[in-house]
Order: sequence, then structure tokens, then C-alpha cells
Amino acid sequence: LGNKISSALAVMNNTTIVNEETINQLLKEIGNALSLADVQMSLIIQMRKNIMAKIKLDQLAAGLNKRKLIKRVVYEELIKLVDPGVPAWKPTKGKPNVIMFVGLQGAGKTTSVTKLAYFYKRKGWSTALICADTFRAGAFIQLQQNATKAKIPFYGSEDEKDPVAVAKKGVDIFKKEGAEIIIVDTSGRHKQDAELFAEMKQVEQAVKPDNVIFVMDSSIGQAAYDQATAFKSSVGVGSVIITKMDGHSKGGGALSAVAATKCPIIFIGTGEHIPDLDLFNAEGFISKLLGMGDMPAMMQMIKDVVPEDPKAIDDIVNGKFTLRNMKQHFQQILKLGPIDKFVQNLPGLSNLPQLSGNEGNLKLKAYINIMDSLSDKELDGKKPITRPRMLVIAQGSGRHPREVIELLEQFKMFEKTFKQKGIQNIANNMAKGGA
Ligand code: GDP
Ligand code: MG
Repeated sequence: LGNKISSALAVMNNTTIVNEETINQLLKEIGNALSLADVQMSLIIQMRKNIMAKIKLDQLAAGLNKRKLIKRVVYEELIKLVDPGVPAWKPTKGKPNVIMFVGLQGAGKTTSVTKLAYFYKRKGWSTALICADTFRAGAFIQLQQNATKAKIPFYGSEDEKDPVAVAKKGVDIFKKEGAEIIIVDTSGRHKQDAELFAEMKQVEQAVKPDNVIFVMDSSIGQAAYDQATAFKSSVGVGSVIITKMDGHSKGGGALSAVAATKCPIIFIGTGEHIPDLDLFNAEGFISKLLGMGDMPAMMQMIKDVVPEDPKAIDDIVNGKFTLRNMKQHFQQILKLGPIDKFVQNLPGLSNLPQLSGNEGNLKLKAYINIMDSLSDKELDGKKPITRPRMLVIAQGSGRHPREVIELLEQFKMFEKTFKQKGIQNIANNMAKGGA
């Protein structure tokens, strides 16, 4: 399907006339892809309406780049599906921030509380976990094991059967101890039963969370809207975490969760292990949903490379991507200023949590430094970089050998993406002056 969308885009790039038919074709392919990914039909229809309302073909002035406009509108409306337009809640340093997790049994709450605590711990926050799931046998032991593995303080009881009492006591203890992130794990029953919701409300009233996170399994599909609505109407859900995005699910239910809760998705779970939690990235998520890999990011990326060096586009068309291309690209990014938001779109780089803001700029500068120490042959991929050579490069550029290795790993990821056929087609169109 991703290919169908790419070819619909390609048709639009190559035809001289952009008309209702070409747009409809594109929207049809996108609609099909979304519906296959379990996106609610009503959301798809609304999106198409929004797009058509924004593109008034007959009103477009001649000479205006219609293709570009259409692509931008389509892209914006797609992003809107996962962006409720409200900023995500953020904890405040130096005070206790109480976060409560809710969601059905098996959604991934207990796994995700540890992941989130670990995420903040790595950034230097003091964190703590509380098990207020007194319903499921073994719930406390599960949290205890996870917390111990991640070296995070925890509280819970195997005997106490009142979740409200456990939650309250745990929060009080950790507030006194000066923890900054205090996460309360709650129980989830099989269904959205009244008892669960009553219990959740009581815990909420007792601990007065600064944020309630609704956890949803990405494979839930069409049931997502009702489920999310039920939780939202019982407790003050403020954010969403979508789990199990490493599986086969494309996560269309996530769009319903956003539509139902009007809350932003903040993280996605990408595995069973503690570090498997990624900051949510709307562009990447939509691309995956459509089956396009990281297409939009790629298009952006190629555009950035082009003005600097026309040869770069030939390279991409020919499926070639070298360290020299990457260096030029990094230089281009640095020119754009703070890279916080932008860099999240870049495949490969998006996996580096430390790469944001000023820190991110410094990292790119370090990478460029390292690439300055490479020979022409190495930059052009005509000579492999051996281990001993890495050490010499590290010394020459005044960087740590670890960073040289890291850079080369980054390069491999970029290279892999650039070898994809779809990217080459886009580059090809651009070379012809299409996009
Ligand atoms: P809870 O009932 O909501 O607390 O759910 P758990 O945290 O116990 O998770 C249920 C199951 O899903 C466990 O086997 C977890 O290992 C698994 N799980 C949770 N999050 C993820 C994820 O992001 N990816 C994968 N592959 N498995 C996950
Ligand atoms: Mg649990």
C-alpha cells in the first residue's frame, strides 16, 4: 500500500495537470491505507473533507506550485489526526509530580510505569513507583521485579487489599522523601467494568495526580474509541501512551484514542524491555500508519540537501549515500538553528534521546568535526574505515572513539533508508523539477 501512495504521489508529480481526479486518487489510496491500519472510518472521512475544503483548485492562482500546496495540505491534515493541538503535560523539576496510570488489563501499564520512571531517572530526576494494583495476583511482584531491575524505589503491599490506601500511603512516603516523579500503577480489569472505574476515581481523589496517563495497546483497533472515551469520562486523562508498537499492529487505534480523549500521545512502547519507550513523533507515526517508512522526513531531508549540492540528488537517484552527503546534511541542519523539533523527523537520529536543543547542535558539531578528519576517499565511501583508523580519527578530531563508532552507526542507518526505492523515485522527480 505504501507503494500505492508513493505511486499516487508520483502520478501527481509527473502529470502536467493537477485536477480533482489526481487528488481523489491520492486521497483514496491514503484512505485505504488508514482503514487497513484500523483507523475509524469517521476520522478518515473527516480528514478527506478537511483536505478538500483547503484545496480549492479553481481558486489557485496560476503559477502557484499546486503540487507542493496539495502535498502540504495532505500532510498537515494527516498530522492533525494524531495531534489534538494541546501541549503535552510536563513535570516540574524540584517538586513532587504525581502521575497515575490507567488502562485495561494487559494494556502495558506495569511495564510502562517502569519505562517512564527509567526515562526520567536517566535524565537525572529522582523517581519512584507505587503498585496500587491490589486486584491481580502477582501484580506487586511484577512491579517489584521491574523496579529492582531499573534501580528505582518502589512501594506496594502483598497483603493490603485497598488500592486507595496503598496509593495514598506510597505517595505520602515518596513526597516526604523528596521524589520528583511519583508514578502510581493501577489495576485494569478485563472489561470497562463499573467497579474498575469506581476504584480508579477513588485512587485519583486520594493521590490528586498532576497527570493521568491512559495506556492503550496499539493492536486494539476499532474498539479504541469507546475504550478511550470510557476512561476519559471517568478520570482526568491528560496524556496517552500507546504500547506494543514493535508488533504487527500499525496502531490505527491510536488516532481514535486521540480523537476520544483530545489528549496528546506522549510515548510509544516499542518492546518488552525497560528502555523500549520512544518519545512520540507524529510524522514518523503517520508514515508508519500509511506504510511509507519515513517518507515525509525523507522528502524534507532531500530538499535540504539539494540547494547545497546538485550532485547529491544524483547520488540519491543512483542509490548512493556517502559520509560526504551526511556531512553536508548535518551542516544544513545546523544552519536552520535550534534542531529540537526538526531533528525528531530524521530517521536514525530520532533514536537518540539526547539529541535535542543545544545538546543536539553540539552533537552534530561533534559529528562534523569527526567527518572533517576523514580523508576524501573515506568521505566518498571508497575506502573502509577500520578500527585502528577510528582511533586515529578520534585523536585527530579531539573526540572520543565512542563518538566515532556512534557516528558510523548513524551513517549506516541513514544509508539503509536512502537505499529504499521510494526515496530514489522522489529524488528522481525532484531532479526533473517535479516536487
Ligand atoms: P498491565 O496489565 O496493563 O499492567 O500490562 P503489563 O505491563 O503487565 O503488560 C502486559 C504484557 O504486554 C506483558 O507481557 C508485557 O511484557 C507486554 N508489553 C507491554 N508493553 C509492551 C511493548 O511495548 N511491546 C511489547 N512487545 N510488549 C509489551
Ligand atoms: Mg499491571
